[in-house]
Parts: sequence; C-alpha cells; structure tokens
Amino acid sequence: MQYLVKEFGSVMTNCYILDNGFEQLVIDPGENSYEWVKQNSNNILAVLNTHGHYDHVYDNYKFQKDGVEIYIHKDDAFLVSNDPFGLLKNGSSPDVLANDEDKFKIGQFSVKFHHFPGHTPGCSMIEIGDFMFSGDFLFNSSIGRFDFPFSNSDDMKKSLLKVKNFKKEFILLPGHGEKSTLQTEISHIDYYLKAFGF
Ligand SMILES: [Zn+2]
Ligand SMILES: [Zn+2]
Repeated sequence: MQYLVKEFGSVMTNCYILDNGFEQLVIDPGENSYEWVKQNSNNILAVLNTHGHYDHVYDNYKFQKDGVEIYIHKDDAFLVSNDPFGLLKNGSSPDVLANDEDKFKIGQFSVKFHHFPGHTPGCSMIEIGDFMFSGDFLFNSSIGRFDFPFSNSDDMKKSLLKVKNFKKEFILLPGHGEKSTLQTEISHIDYYLKAFGF
C-alpha cells in the first residue's frame, strides 16, 4: 500500500491518496485537490474526512458528483455543510456517518475510525493498514488548536489521555505538516498536557 500527499489551499492542508495498486481512497480533499487526485488515480472508492473543517472537505462535492461516497464521524457531519469560518464555497452531505471504533471494508481496504474530539466534536484518526491519518488532532511535534468555534478543551484533554493507551506503532500522516510516527507523538503528550495547562 502506497500513499501520495500534496498540500492544498492557503493553510496548506495535506490531501492523501492511498493506493493498493488497483483501488484508491482519498483522505481530506482540500481546496482544488480534485484535479491532482484525478490525475493520480484510476479507481477511487471513497473520500474519508478526518474532520469537518473547510480546508479538509473543500473538494468533497466534486467527488460526490462522481458518485464517490463521503465518510466522516457523525459528530462532524454538520460542519461539512455549515462552515463557521464562512470559507467553504460548496457544502457536501456525507454518505456514511462513523461512530468511534467503527470498521469499514472498502474494496480491499480495512478502515477504522478512532474518535478524538477536542479540535472539533467529531475529530477522528483514521487507521488503514500501517497508516494513521491523524487530521488536526496530532501533528509532527504539535497538536491541533482547540480554541475554534465548536472546539472543546476538556474533550482535547480526554483525547490526549486516551491516545496514550495506543501501544501499536503506526506511520502518522497528519492534516498539516510532515509525517511522524504515532509512538513518537505519544511520547510528547505529557509535555503537551503541561504546556497547555491541562
Ligand atoms: Zn481542523
Ligand atoms: Zn486543518
């Protein structure tokens, strides 16, 4: 399984194409990512959103027009058509609403949603094979902001404590910035809990 990544939009949001050789999943299609995705894919099965912020769902509607299903955690579904920043031009309506720990078989891909609210109510990490798509929950050497509309610092604290229980290693592919590994970022959690006054 291989992935391609490219940044899109003014806040440089990572869009990923995950490819098993004959099928692809798209994770977080940001602003005008559609053309790049189409050039680098031939059998797109689904779009997965780590959360509902405009910069991660911007081009959802273009894929939806093609009949591609949109997956997102249920608690962020409202954001995909109702952007509090007013920056989303075209909303979309998710087809599949995930709960925490929900597993989906999409083609040959096994997908699992892990709910980590705080940055947004439905913010999730999405596990596929050895990859963990962490959205704006965990970054390389940082965590997502929790001072936006619909953010919640108590939830963020709980999510940071919860992720420490993950013992398995994954390649961490965040919504912004460079890749990392899950265990590297978990090793920073105690520091964040102190630094952000949790
Ligand atoms: Zn975000
Ligand atoms: Zn973002």
